[in-house]
This record gives sequence, structure tokens and C-alpha cells, in this order.
Amino acid sequence: MINFILFGPPGSGKGTYSKKIVEDLGLIHISTGDLLRSEIEKKTDLGMQAKSKMEKGEFVPDETVISMIEGILCENDLAKGFVFDGFPRTVAQAQAFDTMLHKYNQSIRQVIAFEVEEEELISRIMARGKESGRADDQNYDVIKNRIAVYHSKTEPVKEYYKAQKKLSVVINEGKIDEVYAKVSSILSV
Ligand code: AMP
Repeated sequence: MINFILFGPPGSGKGTYSKKIVEDLGLIHISTGDLLRSEIEKKTDLGMQAKSKMEKGEFVPDETVISMIEGILCENDLAKGFVFDGFPRTVAQAQAFDTMLHKYNQSIRQVIAFEVEEEELISRIMARGKESGRADDQNYDVIKNRIAVYHSKTEPVKEYYKAQKKLSVVINEGKIDEVYAKVSSILSV
């Protein structure tokens, strides 16, 4: 399997470029945010537990997302590979993920970390919220909290993968095709 992680703060382009990679390479897109929103829509117990956390811009428990990911890996053991978007988001998730991948004889090929200025992030998230109706993309305080949580809990995950020599940073500025050219050059390494 060929597995990539798309990493970065909310609004940094993970979803946009995941879709392009999936189209190009025939991989499966796994967004923990999308999976959680679908649980909320279906009104499952898991969804109901995640809802209040997500509304405040806080993380759902590590165990919840780790077991969702494991379920998908088990169900798709013949897949060509995955693009993980929004996971792992804590060092504990990254460690548990490595243990899980090892168990299934899999590994991460590369982590592509997007960087975008904070003001630009906020305006991109607000624009996305207007289009999608996503509540956590429309409330300024929630957006600020998600960015703060990214800095405190998620950014340390970069060092984790840097130590494994798997981290590539992409400054997401400019046209989508230009940025995707940079992403593509990493995919083919
Ligand atoms: P996203 O769609 O990736 O922006 O995620 C939306 C929300 O889902 C986040 O603000 C978190 O509340 C929750 N979430 C998504 N992925 C994770 C994760 N890996 N760990 C914890 N919470 C997550």
C-alpha cells in the first residue's frame, strides 16, 4: 500500500489536495472530520459524543478516532493505499497509528505538511463555512480555538515525523495547480 498523511491547520488545503491525490493515484481518502460529521448526521452514539466537542473546536478522544481508522483499514485490506486527512492530530494518535500500521504490515510513505498564514486560514475557513453551512467554520471564536488547539496539540506531530525523515513542508500560496505541482513532486519521491 501507498499511504500519505496530509497535515496542517484547519483551512490549510488538506481536503482540496487529498481529493486531487486520490484522483491521480487511485487511493482512498480518509478524513476523520468527514467520518465524524457522518456519524453526527446518522445520530449514532459516537456522533452524539463527538458533536459537543466539535462544536467547540475541541478534539474528540484519541481512542475514538484511532478505532474508526482501524475499522477502515480492516475493511479495505486490498486497497492500493490511503490519504489520511486530519489524522493523526496528536502525538499519541501518531504513536498508536504506527503500532497499528505495523500490525497490518503497512507504513506511511510521506507526510505532506501545509503551511498558510493565520489571517489567510481564517478567511479561507469563513468562506468555506458560508458555502458548506458547517457551523464550526462560521464562528470566529471556534475557528480561533481550532487554530490554537492545532498549535498546542497537533504541531508537535510534525517533529514526530521529521524524526522519521518523512516530513515534507508545502507553503500553500498561489494557484491550486502550482501548489499541486509541488505536492506531486513529493508523491513521486
Ligand atoms: P476537520 O474536518 O478535520 O476540520 O475536523 C473537524 C473536527 O472534528 C475537529 O475540530 C475535531 O473536533 C474533530 N476531529 C477530526 N479529526 C480528529 C482527530 N484526528 N482527533 C480528534 N478530533 C478530530
